[in-house]
Amino acid sequence: MVQPYFTLNTGAKIPAVGLGTFEAGDGDVYPAVMEALKVGYRHIDAAAIYRNEKSVGKAIRDSGVPREELFVTTKLWCTQHKEPEKALDQSLERLGLDYVDLYLIHWPVALKTTSIKDGNMLTVPLRDGARDVDVDWNFVRTWELVQELPATGKTKAVGVSNFSINHLKELLASPGNKLTPAANQVEIHPLLPQQELIDFGKKHGIVTEAYSPLGHNGAPLLKNATVQEVAAKYNTGPAQILISWAVKRGYVVLPKSITPARVKSNFELVDLSAEDVQKLLDIAKNEGEKRFINPDWSGFKVFD
Ligand code: NDP
Repeated sequence: MVQPYFTLNTGAKIPAVGLGTFEAGDGDVYPAVMEALKVGYRHIDAAAIYRNEKSVGKAIRDSGVPREELFVTTKLWCTQHKEPEKALDQSLERLGLDYVDLYLIHWPVALKTTSIKDGNMLTVPLRDGARDVDVDWNFVRTWELVQELPATGKTKAVGVSNFSINHLKELLASPGNKLTPAANQVEIHPLLPQQELIDFGKKHGIVTEAYSPLGHNGAPLLKNATVQEVAAKYNTGPAQILISWAVKRGYVVLPKSITPARVKSNFELVDLSAEDVQKLLDIAKNEGEKRFINPDWSGFKVFD
């Protein structure tokens, strides 16, 4: 099957399947990215807070794949909402790249830096056991700074992550907004199908990207009986079904693996019928919704 792509509101093409790099140590992520680029991936999803951009970037540079053929994303961490250009410079330095293709606000939450002692911004500051949310700052102000970044040439496009429909509405309606985010990266899988959010994105020209498509660590959704039943029908594995389901529904999907054989097989899509797409959509109706990534932002409601 030819690898599909979607088109961002900048006109750039974004490959539909990208390799995730969360919770992959330097020693693991380098061979994983190398393997991905060898078997045909052209899209890598990174983030400053994953603390492995150096190895991700080294693999990208060592792979021999021309830079212009690749789509590289990285993300602004919550402690750096007030200085996104500096944060992007730091990511580019670690990646060893001149630009990224997409720079995302990782969460619609700014964290205070007062409790950071060693100057290391890539931390999750905690105060009294809770995350130190800066309630005097707002993601709309972050966006006003981030929307200026494409003009610097350091990123081709900018977008957001973990934004709800309400966040997107607030951002789009804000007086300082000059640019529609190119993408919104959120958790999506059969236990959290997010149809309304995907539709909202389509209506406004925002490409949706699915993270944790296999259910995050340990890929628990591979054990789901319906997913396994559909996989048997297509004579493939449950991971391929979950990844193919995303592409068929019309959004980018970012499976993560540090296991070379899985990196390879996750890239082998199947063409699901409308009936099987629906069967997987029915899982949440029958079994209830579940969110695997749900940080406690000290009472600050993110998923409103
Ligand atoms: P995934 O749903 O991609 O699952 C990753 C887990 O699945 C790992 O334990 C991996 O194991 C395992 N796995 C992968 N492929 C297979 C397979 N074929 N068979 C069996 N097990 C498999 O979880 P993530 O949470 O990592 O999400 C994917 C990516 O999305 C992240 O890496 C990151 O890039 C992005 N993300 C973004 C977030 C955001 O806030 N914007 C939040 C979370 C994720 P192993 O690696 O050992 O092979």
